[in-house]
Amino acid sequence: MVTTADGARMEDEEELLRLTSADKEWENDEELLIGLESFASDFYRSGTDWSCLNTKRQRTLRQTNLFQCWGQGRGLNHPQSTGTAPNTATRNKSLNTDFAAEKTKRHYPSIENPTHRGGGSLSGQQPHPRACPFYKKIHGTTFTVDAFRYGQINGCSAYFLSHFHADHYGGLNKAWSHGPIYCTALTARLVMMCLYVNPLIVRPLEIETEYLIEGIKVTMLEANHCPGAALIHFRLPDGQCHLHTGDFRASKQMQTYPTLVNSKVNMLYLDTTYCDQKYRFPPKEDVLNFVVRIANNHLERHLKTLIIVGAYSIGKECVYLAISKALGMKIYANSLRRRILLSFGWPEISDNLCMDGKETPLHVLPISSLKFEVLERYLKSCGSKYSNVLAFRPTGWTYSETIGNQLDLTRPRSKGNITIYGVPYSEHSSFTELQEFIQFLRPTKIIPTVNVGTAINRDKMQSYFQKWLKR
Ligand SMILES: [Zn+2]
Repeated sequence: MVTTADGARMEDEEELLRLTSADKEWENDEELLIGLESFASDFYRSGTDWSCLNTKRQRTLRQTNLFQCWGQGRGLNHPQSTGTAPNTATRNKSLNTDFAAEKTKRHYPSIENPTHRGGGSLSGQQPHPRACPFYKKIHGTTFTVDAFRYGQINGCSAYFLSHFHADHYGGLNKAWSHGPIYCTALTARLVMMCLYVNPLIVRPLEIETEYLIEGIKVTMLEANHCPGAALIHFRLPDGQCHLHTGDFRASKQMQTYPTLVNSKVNMLYLDTTYCDQKYRFPPKEDVLNFVVRIANNHLERHLKTLIIVGAYSIGKECVYLAISKALGMKIYANSLRRRILLSFGWPEISDNLCMDGKETPLHVLPISSLKFEVLERYLKSCGSKYSNVLAFRPTGWTYSETIGNQLDLTRPRSKGNITIYGVPYSEHSSFTELQEFIQFLRPTKIIPTVNVGTAINRDKMQSYFQKWLKR
């Protein structure tokens, strides 16, 4: 696990909390439903109207087989699973999954003979992990997305990772041997560098490049979430297209992506983190301008200010970059974070990092450490160089309905010489952005992936989707 020098876990802890709790609720709820197999197939059929699902509760069946869940026979032969020649006209790249042939070293567990199957130990005494929920499986394929915590998934031939946040890669580690991992090149670097995953099973995919993987055309698209995050577009041999958003912040630019403009999406696996009409937070640019303005004003009043930006291990870079650019400051981050930031290969970050906290008044700390007592200690550790702290906590969760888009009404919390601003800088779509995206894409079916733990939430989202898709 990635840990900072100051002892804080370098994870997006809020995201972890958000998703793991939602996930648990959803799965518990699923267990009440009659066999996940029939629930999943009903769910897939039901478009945006899930009302038919409410009468399907039984307790006898369970989703035990991936192919059954996907409505396919067990042992399905994929006609193109052994390496179809790429279609060079569309820049397809064939990535056949016969990666056993590529394996030359034995430093990692064998893929053909995994050291453990289904997540159990060699002794077989560890409990079998939970079954992978249907909304992590791409319908009509043998692929899963962000489903590493379930160990080996029966019938799954390729494991996709949408981005490098712990609630999505959870379960992935250097012992992973259950199948190839497909992700963007940047995420691939992080997976190998931070989790020590066997490079031979990591398959980096370039953004906006169509690859042929087991007969399915796959394209990764920029997700406007964190570095390396991708929307994953799947085009099946029968012409059906599915889009998995991972985590994303919908933008106008996405409406110009050729892959999305030129295809009808049948199933949309949607990041519904803020799919509630109360979340109408301001555009990123407005929040960045606000942060710069506050920092500037504060510095005019207090020369010896230490500016601290809270960030996840990956994500929120734009906040400190905006301050750095506008105020001409270098960025200090500890060695672990610097290593991660340097791996992005982005000159605007690499050229502005510094190794000594005394050389710049702009520091990046884990978002979880933005507490008065922690910041007080941190300020003391800097000696007499700074007299006070101005900290920014950038997350959509700080959004307040009463303030809405009027950022100037944002009031900081202050204690002694520490001032903390919560600013609604989100890397997930606002309610309005979700609506615009759905109305642009007009998918046949939407499968929400977040906040689906209760029937109330699901019904609420369903009514939004129906309204948005009404002609
Ligand atoms: Zn994320």
